[in-house]
Amino acid sequence: MHEMAICLGIIQIVEEELRHRSFSRVRSVCLEMGALSHAAPEAIRFCFAVVATRTVAEGAVLNIVELPGVAWCMSCSKSIEIARRGERCPCCGSYQLQVTAGEQMRVKELEID
Ligand SMILES: [Zn+2]
Repeated sequence: MHEMAICLGIIQIVEEELRHRSFSRVRSVCLEMGALSHAAPEAIRFCFAVVATRTVAEGAVLNIVELPGVAWCMSCSKSIEIARRGERCPCCGSYQLQVTAGEQMRVKELEID
């Protein structure tokens, strides 16, 4: 499953981050997720709990911050918000949109005990 791979990636980032610190366990992980990142927050939450078992992140709370998708409309030269790829520009109806934000997914913060 796509989300499973993403969560394995998150755990890797967390383990990498903790390699240089002394800690007992991870309390929470804050994940920034763009609306256009092709993953469902609920599925991510579920997979994270499964993948985190028996790792440094076991039992950690996953906080997901959803960021809007942003695109640049080439027809009317405006920056607009879109919920998904393939949408039309709400201003002029053009499909000539260049996605500029909302595809990213990154671990923003870790709370460690
Ligand atoms: Zn437009």
